[in-house]
Amino acid sequence: MKGVQNYTYDDVLAEVKTYISKEENLALIRKASDYALKHHEGQFRKSGEPYYSHLANVAYILASLHVGPSTIAAGFLHDVIEDTEITKEELAKEFTPEIAELVESVTKIGALKLQQKDDPEYQAKNHRKLFIAMAKDIRVILIKLADRLHNMRTLEFQSEESQRRIAQETLDVYAPIAHRLGISAIKNELEDLCFFYLDREEYYRIAHLVETKKAERDRYVQQMIVDISKLLTEEGIPFRIFGRSKHLYSIYHKMQERHKRFDEILDLLAIRIITETELNCYEILGYIHATYKPIPGRLKDYIAVPKTNMYQSLHTTIIGDEGKIFEVQIRTEEMDSIAERGIAAHWHYKEGSRYEAKKEQKEIEEKLSWLRDFAEYSDESEQDSDSQYMETLQKDVFEANVYVMTPKGKVVDLPNGATPIDFAYRIHTDVGHTTVGAIVNDAMVPLNTELHTGDVVEVRTMKGTGPSEDWLKFVKTNHAKNKIKAYFAKKENEGKSEKAQIGEKILADELKKRGFEPSEYMEKKRLEGLLGEYTLKSLIDLYYAIAVKSISPASVIEKLTNHRRIVTDSDLVDMINRDAKRRVPSKSGVYVPGISSMKISLAQCCMPVHGDDIVGYITKGEGVKVHRRDCRNLAQLQQRLIDVEWEENLDQKLYDASLVVLSHDRNFLLTDIVTVVSQNKVTMLQVSANLNQETLTTTIKLKVQVHNAEHLRTLMANIRKVDSVLSVERE
Ligand code: MN
Repeated sequence: MKGVQNYTYDDVLAEVKTYISKEENLALIRKASDYALKHHEGQFRKSGEPYYSHLANVAYILASLHVGPSTIAAGFLHDVIEDTEITKEELAKEFTPEIAELVESVTKIGALKLQQKDDPEYQAKNHRKLFIAMAKDIRVILIKLADRLHNMRTLEFQSEESQRRIAQETLDVYAPIAHRLGISAIKNELEDLCFFYLDREEYYRIAHLVETKKAERDRYVQQMIVDISKLLTEEGIPFRIFGRSKHLYSIYHKMQERHKRFDEILDLLAIRIITETELNCYEILGYIHATYKPIPGRLKDYIAVPKTNMYQSLHTTIIGDEGKIFEVQIRTEEMDSIAERGIAAHWHYKEGSRYEAKKEQKEIEEKLSWLRDFAEYSDESEQDSDSQYMETLQKDVFEANVYVMTPKGKVVDLPNGATPIDFAYRIHTDVGHTTVGAIVNDAMVPLNTELHTGDVVEVRTMKGTGPSEDWLKFVKTNHAKNKIKAYFAKKENEGKSEKAQIGEKILADELKKRGFEPSEYMEKKRLEGLLGEYTLKSLIDLYYAIAVKSISPASVIEKLTNHRRIVTDSDLVDMINRDAKRRVPSKSGVYVPGISSMKISLAQCCMPVHGDDIVGYITKGEGVKVHRRDCRNLAQLQQRLIDVEWEENLDQKLYDASLVVLSHDRNFLLTDIVTVVSQNKVTMLQVSANLNQETLTTTIKLKVQVHNAEHLRTLMANIRKVDSVLSVERE
């Protein structure tokens, strides 16, 4: 293997200075270098070099990609959390939270070990996914690639077994990521290094073939360069031109893939022409095709249709002198830079422009299709609009930090705190909806169990079951939340339209009963004219309101017919019954926030009335008993208490209340009190009086019905004004 160039801090600085000049940026890089040097002191690489040399080399690779100063600093610091006592917090304090975050992410990815599964290719794909998901930030991937590249360059110092393992992993995971990100410089070098360690014999064979043909090929290439240069100079088109050699692995790969011998690989003679504008590219192509015979079907226009990794160029294959075949690439400087540095070129650090990591990432993600490939793991996109789906997915993916597996080894990434329900919805919406149980690492667990990285998760489903609204309280992914909500919204709508049909029939019947022709009065336009008056949006809403009795059909008919209300016998009966109903409080008038179906009753000991400060006590078997917060019995009931609230007392429900009146005994006392009660429009249910012979005081107990606490307070205040009364208290 060729000798490895070892870069120093000075090399990094020289490279950095080609595109960074601000003193504060250079100072940051210097500081990171010094910090790494100090904290890794006494540590050595297997090569015997001080550990710091690895860091300088990683920083150099990053600088050659023209990344920003924070990323270069993070390159110097990328191993301090892993290999020294330094913590993320200390890094954040010493440098910036951003740099600390980058270093921590690199460390986390480094700790990643995946089980070897039966299907290595499948596993490699998952590993790549996991890698990108964990990185959260493309800069983390760049640092990790630079780290891996230097480790590959120095792989000779590892054991043979490690060499094979690391090379295979690099070929399966890192090189494809570099390719995806369009960083061909790193991809090509990684592939050749892997090739060398994985199949040395074949590597040397191809290297030898290339070498023996080199002089001959160089001669042809040189001649072609001279000829094309002459041609383009005559036409006055700006250009630079050079021959280029394919890297060994790509030759090997093509031979394998196309089952061809070495001398059959077409593009061994390769030339690249760099020019100024897109138009120049097409002009050059035109002149070359006019001079040399192009091979049909070999023209590729990646300028008009860029590759998914942003690569742009014109490719053509032509027949030169002596029948030699040349592959020619034509592109602008900018396209060339993107071809070599890929995403990093796009992200090229521009000094002075405000850098916003989030915004930049979004831009890049929009340009790249690799993120889109992430969507593959999820089941469907037809229900959500595309952009909402991507947004949800992106949020879930980039905020992911729990990695669990299906029993088959498929990696599923979820946000922190995610549960088996989140997992189930990730697999498929129907799986989510019908989940009834979860098995984590072979043990049955509750559905709200928090999942951890490395858990093997499986869910049990049952056909015909549906999600529970309680799930919304603990699911973490927006994906699951949206799906559960959508399920209930759909169900409610179904229920609503059923009810609406009932309401429609009620209205028609009422019209008939009053001698109106339903088909005439229930004309769509006519009914829709009423919606505004009821602040409703649709006819369905109106019919629904009639069905659930929040709007009476009589009121609708009155409006429809423009008549005063016509009271029929049946109306009268209805009214009397309604009034009768009002006299008897049927429901408690209290609800438990968030829970709708719970038996609730008012405690008899303190008899709360509407407006009192109340609290619920969860009984064993009798639902929730509502007490006044100052009820003496509550003092013993510390546990099982629950927050409850009064419903709005819309139908003026009445509440029972007991009062104890203490008074000096006198004639007509009881009469005076009862008069006050009736003046306050309070219904009296019971009254009793007891005379204490010793103190000559009377204790009067009243049971009354009031609308609310305010009503009761007014009554009590008025009773206190009665002559001889000493005190009025609630029992
Ligand atoms: Mn490292």
